[in-house]
Amino acid sequence: MLFVVACGVFTAGVPAHADDSALFEAVRAADLKVAGIGWRLALANAPLCDRIEAGTGMQLHTLDQFDADKRESAKAHFGFATPVAIEGVVPDSPAERAGLRPDDSLVRVGSVEIAGLSGKPGTTDKLVAAQFAIAALPAESPIPVEVIRAGTRVQVTLQPIRACKSRFELALDGGFGASADGTMVQIGSGFLDAYPDDQIAAVIAHEFAHNILHHRDRLEARGVDYGLLSGFGANVKYFRQTEVQADILSVYLLANAGLSPRAPVAFWRHFGPSKAGGILLSRSHPAWRDRVATLEAEVAKVEQLSVRPVVPALIAERDKPLDGDWQSILVRAH
Ligand SMILES: [Zn+2]
Repeated sequence: MLFVVACGVFTAGVPAHADDSALFEAVRAADLKVAGIGWRLALANAPLCDRIEAGTGMQLHTLDQFDADKRESAKAHFGFATPVAIEGVVPDSPAERAGLRPDDSLVRVGSVEIAGLSGKPGTTDKLVAAQFAIAALPAESPIPVEVIRAGTRVQVTLQPIRACKSRFELALDGGFGASADGTMVQIGSGFLDAYPDDQIAAVIAHEFAHNILHHRDRLEARGVDYGLLSGFGANVKYFRQTEVQADILSVYLLANAGLSPRAPVAFWRHFGPSKAGGILLSRSHPAWRDRVATLEAEVAKVEQLSVRPVVPALIAERDKPLDGDWQSILVRAH
């Protein structure tokens, strides 16, 4: 399933009286926070990924993602001379080094013509199409980029960096959902309001680990059922195996990126008891205390190693079918 998120900009946690500009900038800052964490993880862990993209550090958005009644003020605020624009550039990324700026509207990125992208109005179709097309460009060749900046055409050349192929997206729902669909990591904006950056990175790293380990494909190869039946029957052991594996790999992804490998432990110590409903009661996920014990065991291993990146054994097994053995990789809490 590919998530197509129509990001309504009226969100929980954003005051209704805020003027549109303040709201737009709050959304931009939140998107950039997620993009920045994703960038660090995708770049540092490229040696662990078999799906590589031309990493640019551009965070894109589209006028179509705004609610219809906000579109006019969004256009006035951001410009949007074309359907897809740069919402922000990650600091010290190829996009920043090329001189690209927030609110540059994209005309062309390499062979990707923004005007040629198709998609239904009022959806993120064109944005997603642009992201996929740009990610498919050769990972190491210079990319000519043409933008419209304050009404003027500007051409630059961007030198991409090899990065794991993944999109990172914020769901402006005020919620505590997080998901990975194979090509994208999505995190609910509730995490941004409630948790420090290193723990937000821990949540993103867990979801990213699912994608790096091809969990969606491997679960589908096992014929598992998503949705209501995911917590029942033969499905359970496969889901649990992928959950424990994602926890384990997240520790390495964070350490490789120079982020705190202990952050998932701190996250679960808080999130486990405070949000002990929903997915935490699901039989597809192990108990949070066991997740903490498993994470702590892995942190101890990674902290003894000085070489980065660390490529854990899970990576070599990612093309094998899931065997459903979650018991032997889960460390039980005492
Ligand atoms: Zn998971």
